[in-house]
Formats: sequence, structure tokens, C-alpha cells
Amino acid sequence: MAQRIQGTEDLYGGYMRSWQHMLDEARELFGTYGFDMIETPAIEQLDTFVHGIGESTDVVRKEMFRVFSGALLPDVMERGSEAHLKPRQRMAMRPEGTAGVVRAAVEHNFIPQGGAPVKLWYGAPMFRGERPQKGRLRQFHQVGAEVMGASDPAVDAEVIIMLMTYFERLGFTPGSLTLRINSMGDAACRPAYRASVKQFILDHADEMCEDCLERAELNPLRSFDCKNDHCREVMTAAPLAKDNLCEECAAHYAQVKAYLDEAGIAYVEDPTLVRGLDYYTRTVFEVELDEAGVGAIGGGGRYDGLMELEGGRPTPGIGFAVGFERIELALQRQGKSLETPAEPCVYVACTPDQRLKVFSVAQALRAAGVRTEEDYQARSLKSQFKQADKVNARLCVVLGDDEVAAGVATVRDMASHEQTQVSLDELASYVAAQLA
Ligand code: AMP
Repeated sequence: MAQRIQGTEDLYGGYMRSWQHMLDEARELFGTYGFDMIETPAIEQLDTFVHGIGESTDVVRKEMFRVFSGALLPDVMERGSEAHLKPRQRMAMRPEGTAGVVRAAVEHNFIPQGGAPVKLWYGAPMFRGERPQKGRLRQFHQVGAEVMGASDPAVDAEVIIMLMTYFERLGFTPGSLTLRINSMGDAACRPAYRASVKQFILDHADEMCEDCLERAELNPLRSFDCKNDHCREVMTAAPLAKDNLCEECAAHYAQVKAYLDEAGIAYVEDPTLVRGLDYYTRTVFEVELDEAGVGAIGGGGRYDGLMELEGGRPTPGIGFAVGFERIELALQRQGKSLETPAEPCVYVACTPDQRLKVFSVAQALRAAGVRTEEDYQARSLKSQFKQADKVNARLCVVLGDDEVAAGVATVRDMASHEQTQVSLDELASYVAAQLA
């Protein structure tokens, strides 16, 4: 039997409706902040991710699904390398959304210099070659938002407030989530800070794991969230970003916090919070439901250098992404779910001679916006009623020979079993009103 790939999921039924609900809430809420939706391709040139996310990150080094066309693959296998391929022949499935959105902004030049910032959101599958486990999939779904063209700390605060409001709208118990924030500095102060963390790791080399020693060279800040408890313990004595910010970054961070305080948003300052991707500058944040045990359900940060890395003009940016599957898991811990009930529907049942009439009545109901089911198997009236129950119909419209002769239909409420005769001319508007 054909099977799906481990770490991927089929979205259908209630689970599909959960994902759609998450998208609907995002569209509505983010719209009030001026965001429009964007969809970028699920595959991009490898360089889009390497430049944007960073060569030293786990995502780029270990987790990206690489794509070679069937025509190229034998050649790559034979040579044991892809070095001879042109950049456009080296492709990968997107592991996250920001790099592609920024690439699109650069390619279409849609960020006016000096104008209002561009605000975009997306809801799409992402792909990471991780070892599948609870809350960690190879294809998962993210809703994300990006603001490009503004460095004002008010934007950082608004993006965070929008995210926390989103969680509340999705049903999380207010106050149950922990928002952690930090500032990672910028091009002016980060290099020196990074060097001091690297030195710290080298000074404690005999106490750190192999991965951290490698990180010291590639990406020392990542040692703050090494999976090894002992490394994290050692790192508690390492220099902290907040003590090494330049004046501008310190002022920016202070203003972000002042705006959050003003909005009454609770947060925890976590000076060891460093996000996994290289492009973050200044504000970074993550949101967790402590008892969920599935890791962060969302996070993001400022990426003032990313636009240049993707070949554009220097343009500040900030964004976040949240994972659908982890949110659903975290909500389940609170005894909740994103699932919404199926749309109410109407079943049109008839006696054998009225098939043609059902056909046109069903069309009229659909034209009035009513979700309508009918029988396609010439079932008896009794089994059509059973079918109506099965599809959870709220109403059943019955077209018997007598009814049609009299120009009416019987409308049966499936819950109360009440029956009403309605003229065929008014049927569609009557049913639509009953369902509303
Ligand atoms: P990240 O870009 O790693 O910060 O991911 C943002 C959000 O996407 C996380 O907070 C998770 O909710 C979700 N996420 C990341 N990786 C995975 C994964 N492998 N499986 C499921 N959800 C994920």
C-alpha cells in the first residue's frame, strides 16, 4: 500500500478546517494592521536560502531538502558533486518563509524607498529534513508576517502585539503563553559580541560538546541553546548580548519594551535567546506554552541586513512565523482545538420521478450560497433520509410527487423533526435564512 513520507501529514476533515481557520483568523487580524497576503514558490534557488538564512545554520547545513530535476540527478550522482551546476540548477524546498518573501521584494522592487513599509503575510507549507517526532515534521505549515522598510521600534512592538493577539484569537487562555524577548545587536555591535562569545567557548573548550566547538567557529551564539544541558550550564557565565549592545541598539531595545509595556503585553527578557537563523538583528522573540513540551510555537525577529544579503538595497525588516501543527498540539494541552464545525448543509431528497426537479432545486440552492447535497444513487426516500443524517444536514428538503405538483417542497429540520411547506419560488431564500 502506498504510504505518505514519514514526518508529513495529510490535512483533511477537521484537521484541514483547523488550518483554514488559522488562515482565516490571520487574514482578518493581520488585515487590520494593513497586511496583504503573498505566496512565493515552494522551491527556490538554493542561494536564496544560503545567503538569507546563513551557511553556518543547522537549517542550511543539515535540514534542507535539495531538489534536482530527473535529468540532472544522474550527472550529479556520477560526479559526486553539484559544483558544476549553474546557480539556477541548484534548488531547495523552502525551510522557512522569510528568505523567499525578501527575495520576491528585491526581485520585484516593491519596497518604496522612504515610503510606507510593505506588510505581507503568508500561510504555507515549509520543509525541513529533521528527524520526525511529535511537533517536529518534515513538512509543516506556517503562518508568517513580514514588515519591510521600517526600523521604528513601534513596528517591532506592533508585530509582537499582533502575534500575541493572534494567539488569543486562536483560543489560547490569556496569560498562558510566555513571550521571551531579547536584542541581538546589529552590524555595529554584534561582531565584537560574537567574537567575545567565541573566545568564551574556546576558553571553556574542555567543558563543551563537539557541536559547540564547531559552533565557536561557525555560529558561537547558537551554543546558548545547545541541546546538551551541560553546555547550556557553562554558557550561563558567557557574555550576554544585552550587556554588549551599542548605544543605538540599546535605545531601540528600550523603546520596544516601552511600547510593549504601554500595550500591557507581558514578556520575559531572556538574554540567552538567540534565534536559529543568521539574519536576525536587534529584536528577537519566541512564544512558548510551558506545559506543552513541543518547543516554541512561534518566533521571529528583526532582519535589517537580510535585504542586502538577497541582493537588494539596505532595507530594514521584521517578521515572525508560527507553526500550525505545534499550535494545534499546544491548544490540545489546554483542552482546545482550532477545529471549527463543518459548514451546515441541506440535503435534497426526492421520490424517483423527481430527479430532474432535484437537480434544478439543488442548483438554485447553491446559487443562493447554500451547501447542498443530493442523492446520486437512486436510493429510497428512507435511505436518503439516513444519508442526510450521515452528512450532518441541518435541513432536508423533500420533493415528493404531490409536493412538486403543488409547487412546494417540505423542509424538515433534522434536529427538531419539524416540517414546513415552502413554495418552490421561495425555497432558496427560506433555506438560506434558516441556515444563517
Ligand atoms: P523557526 O523558523 O524554526 O523559528 O520556526 C517557526 C515556527 O515554526 C516554530 O515556532 C514552530 O512552531 C514551527 N516549526 C519549526 N520547525 C518545525 C518542524 N520541523 N515541525 C513542525 N513545526 C515546526
